[in-house]
Amino acid sequence: MSKSAAKKIQAIRGMNDLLPSESPRWQFFEAKVRQLMHRYGFDEIRTPIVEQTALFARSIGEVTDIVEKEMYTFDDRNGDSLTLRPEGTASCVRAAMEHGLLHNQTQRLWYQGPMFRHERPQKGRYRQFHQVGVETYGFDGPDIDAEVILLSARLWKELGLLDHVTLELNSLGSSEARAAYRDKLVAYFEQHRDILDEDSQRRLTSNPLRILDSKNPAMATMLDSAPQLMDHLDDDSREHFEQLKAMLDAAGIQYVINPRLVRGLDYYCRTVFEWTTTALGSQGTICAGGRYDGLVEQLGGKPTPAVGFAMGIERLVLLLETLNLVPDEALGGCDVYLLPMDDSATVAALTLAEQLRNELPTLRLQLHCGGGSFKSRMKKADKSNAPIAVLLGEDELANNAATLKFLREEREQQQVAQTDLAATLHNLVSH
Ligand code: ATP
Ligand code: MG
Repeated sequence: MSKSAAKKIQAIRGMNDLLPSESPRWQFFEAKVRQLMHRYGFDEIRTPIVEQTALFARSIGEVTDIVEKEMYTFDDRNGDSLTLRPEGTASCVRAAMEHGLLHNQTQRLWYQGPMFRHERPQKGRYRQFHQVGVETYGFDGPDIDAEVILLSARLWKELGLLDHVTLELNSLGSSEARAAYRDKLVAYFEQHRDILDEDSQRRLTSNPLRILDSKNPAMATMLDSAPQLMDHLDDDSREHFEQLKAMLDAAGIQYVINPRLVRGLDYYCRTVFEWTTTALGSQGTICAGGRYDGLVEQLGGKPTPAVGFAMGIERLVLLLETLNLVPDEALGGCDVYLLPMDDSATVAALTLAEQLRNELPTLRLQLHCGGGSFKSRMKKADKSNAPIAVLLGEDELANNAATLKFLREEREQQQVAQTDLAATLHNLVSH
């Protein structure tokens, strides 16, 4: 074999396998999300992970980090430029328009799936990562802004995260108000050009609002004194924002106003928000969103108000793990390990396992497969983490019985008639 053929192929940097030891946490989170969306009357939408490059370039904005340097773009075999989706909103708008979902109706949608950005991989930041998002269309009042924020707050509450997260809120105003503010901001930055770092110098002409988002400590004081968007809002946006805040107050949702919260994507207007945590180090934003009333029109549709958010599943699962918030029952394993004591009991064990699964649909039963000595079978039973082993041997078969062995507690083993087995296990297993 040649040397290169022998070299093991590995996963692509920043793209992770989800291993069986980790997947129960993901399933726990995903089940909560699915249930919640159902309860709030949101319907799921699934779109392809590849789209025409122009969709993202036109919606996210040519001079954003994502479009400038993070997209996985390639030519299809027929020469079309395609891109692995870096986020879900553009695809959602594309699909909703294409299938007439925005025509004289409102929509509340949610999605979940992988996103792709060529970023520097680090804890909480990957090249393939996963998001859950919601997108609503056709509602222009602040009630829907409040509703999606309340939905996210309920998720934190149900996951036990509410005490560990902070809601940051800002309003970007109308696009006209933003343009006027932008001029003021550029003038201010021009006066402080010497303090601007290289990135910010570049953004001064392309995307000056993004400079406000900079984490560079050398610029912090200068940024603190910069003119604030909040002082330049148009009247309608100000009223919208005041109403949203009153709704959140009424619902008992705490928030902090962050006048420097601008979000990295071009399409936002009015409400923007982020949920952040200090428990994850520097990748502390777990959910981000806002209003994007201009996007549908920008992509060729009729003017349609829209509000949405996306949350990063990796960061949330990491947070649940760090804070130890996934209950043991959710972490996999099984309740019962059923083992034939030797090969002569294999068929009977297989049949009994199916019978128990018929009678106890919630029982998690693992059947011993693969033969082996009695000792090695018992070792596997122990490794399964099941609290109970059900043994079938010559003696049991002769008596139409089974032996229950308790693997995690000091307790006499007991023989039970096979006809009573389901009822006995039902009483022993708590769920
Ligand atoms: P950040 O400021 O952390 O780069 P962002 O503003 O680029 O985030 P959005 O595009 O708003 O993020 O995506 C919403 C959420 O998706 C983020 O808050 C984060 O939880 C998650 N996310 C974004 N990029 C990544 C990534 N590369 N790896 C893992 N999660 C990510
Ligand atoms: Mg980013």
